[in-house]
Amino acid sequence: MERDELRRLAQQIPEAKIDEAVQRLKDLVDGDRFVFGVDLDGVVADYYTGLKPIAAEWLGVNVKKLPDEVSYGLPEWNMEAAPGGYPALHRFAVKERNLFMGLKPMKDAPQVLRRLSEAGVRIRIITHRLYIKHFHRAAIDQTVEWLDTHDIPYWDLCFMQNKAAVGADLYIDDSIKNIDDLMADGLDTIIFTNSTNRGHVGLRADSWQDVERIVTQKMAAWKKQRGAKKALAGR
Ligand SMILES: [Mg+2]
Repeated sequence: MERDELRRLAQQIPEAKIDEAVQRLKDLVDGDRFVFGVDLDGVVADYYTGLKPIAAEWLGVNVKKLPDEVSYGLPEWNMEAAPGGYPALHRFAVKERNLFMGLKPMKDAPQVLRRLSEAGVRIRIITHRLYIKHFHRAAIDQTVEWLDTHDIPYWDLCFMQNKAAVGADLYIDDSIKNIDDLMADGLDTIIFTNSTNRGHVGLRADSWQDVERIVTQKMAAWKKQRGAKKALAGR
């Protein structure tokens, strides 16, 4: 009955007020939580370590020939010399070797995410794993299964290229391209350290202990600011 009333009211909202109404309802549904936008590969999942033996198999080289210290785009593995280059390897790795299911979580990532979730952080996974067409189902199925297998809590799972389009109060990423895009939009972003982003300037976490400390501090500041705003609005 109340839901019918809600529908009736929704129909009557004037066009000019729709955006505001949607935002208010979202806040109500979200419970007004601090949202942490979390990248998966290279941050929660140890992507490069997991991809390396598959890349060696695909390239037909000894795994020891592929360095651990890689830079953005993996030029050190010389995949572009092979037919199809990186996209072809990626397709093989996901479709034929269940890449996303086989990745190891980064040290302490599941435990810290569980603690943050318990502390009231709304975890929003934002990943660009669908960037190659034609095997989206495998990528999505493996991702959901992997998150469950490792008991990683999340409220939202977004498969997005433009990460800034998915709202969050704080982001974490390891890709210098994503970090630059987020920072250019003025969004608070943690750089999760690996060899692909070394030297990049910004707020940095070298471990998931660092992540826990930063997120806890940022959420406390966010709550304080919101409390001040509410107190001001209530005057
Ligand atoms: Mg990443």
